Amino acid sequence: MSLRAGTMREAEIDLDAIADNVRHIRRLTGVEVMAVVKADGYGHGALRAAVAALHGGATRLGVADVGEALALRRAGVSAPVLAWLHPPHPDFAEAVAADVALGISGSAQLDAAVAAGRGDRVATVHLKVDTGLSRNGAPRDEWRRLFAEAARLERIGRLRVEGLFSHLSNASEADDRAALAVFDEATALAASVGLRPRVRHLAATHAAIALPEARLDCVRIGIGLYGLSPFADRTSADLGLRPAMTLRAAVAAVRRVPAGTGVSYGYDFRAERDTTLALVPLGYADGVPRQASGAGTVRINGVRARVAGRIAMDQFVVDMGDHDVSVGDEVVVFGDPTLGVPSASDWADAAGTINYEIVTRIGARVPRRQVG
Ligand SMILES: *Cc1c(COP(=O)(O)O)cnc(C)c1O
Repeated sequence: MSLRAGTMREAEIDLDAIADNVRHIRRLTGVEVMAVVKADGYGHGALRAAVAALHGGATRLGVADVGEALALRRAGVSAPVLAWLHPPHPDFAEAVAADVALGISGSAQLDAAVAAGRGDRVATVHLKVDTGLSRNGAPRDEWRRLFAEAARLERIGRLRVEGLFSHLSNASEADDRAALAVFDEATALAASVGLRPRVRHLAATHAAIALPEARLDCVRIGIGLYGLSPFADRTSADLGLRPAMTLRAAVAAVRRVPAGTGVSYGYDFRAERDTTLALVPLGYADGVPRQASGAGTVRINGVRARVAGRIAMDQFVVDMGDHDVSVGDEVVVFGDPTLGVPSASDWADAAGTINYEIVTRIGARVPRRQVG
């Protein structure tokens, strides 16, 4: 696809890629896939990503906040949804009424989940344990009390304990194996107090691919859903995944300049020879990282062109050398690198960050266009 006429910038979202990525991970892992669509589906649009992922065989959805889960429900999504990050003193009434499952990291959250039940409609919870990441998840010395209380509440019909889960650090394979062993202890302890959580889950994309033992009953797939690799040394194509987002713009201005000409704020770039500059109407307000000034590349008319000087809020300039370029020509900032365009990972490298941040921060000013 190419940029629609009259459009200055857009992010194309390939829903077939999302569905295919889920199919691929389903085949690879052989377990349930929870499609993680938090943060507006990593910038791809939570609703469309959720629908495409369910179409591809995901059976659950995962988000951070209850608000994100409720937005999916309001849009008509009926698949199981889990939300795991909550404010202090949470009120879970709306979540329970909308059948949103709650990740529960401690006794206060457990109490709040129980309090949100109305008659037969009780909270569905997934108990979250910390196995080394030191973020949320109940710390080890609280497991026994939390599990015993959850088991008691389940026995008297005030709660349904559907899951037990944790999250890995990806610090090293040894660290992840150690966390898996700690998780096994949590599973055994839960069983010893009478809990039988049907869905045990630990692996995000990285471990779902690299650590088969961590797949358990379900894998939580975020970055892989969107076709990007969480590995520094393996590309999307190496993993059999296809990037779903292509960021495009139309060249907004072209100028031929003599050697010595300064470009953009601070003149960090000065032309070494006569050259042609093209203006791209995307900036850091749109999520193009300012840290990639002078380093990121785009493709225009089959040519790779580098950012010249600083990326500004709304625009940046690329150096086309002596290649032809006209106002309106299509710029591909990133997309599927097997098609010869830069990848989100290339931009991450140029900016000193990770591909997750590149796609997630594409701003609200960039219209999304779904295809497939
Ligand atoms: C964001 C998140 C995921 C998804 O991670 P990816 O690396 O994007 O696959 C899984 N689980 C939890 C708890 C998360 O917060």
